[in-house]
Amino acid sequence: MLKLGSIRWRGKCSKHPGYDPYLDGRGAIRGGCERCGLLADIQTRHTEMLALMKRFAPAVPKRRAEPHNNRQTSLFGEIEN
Ligand SMILES: [Zn+2]
Repeated sequence: MLKLGSIRWRGKCSKHPGYDPYLDGRGAIRGGCERCGLLADIQTRHTEMLALMKRFAPAVPKRRAEPHNNRQTSLFGEIEN
């Protein structure tokens, strides 16, 4: 059995605070910056980890709610005297 806690993590390069590996990709790393490279590595591994988890246990599709057409009784025509 494997247990992982939820992780909330932030990392920012002090020299290139605007660099976002998700949006910019590895090609946007300036001057071979090691910190930006690490951010890109972390992003890559995170994406791979999520894909592995999804492969191991695919998301269960949500059940569609059944239509409620016949649930409400008619207010007219069913009153007996
Ligand atoms: Zn950087």
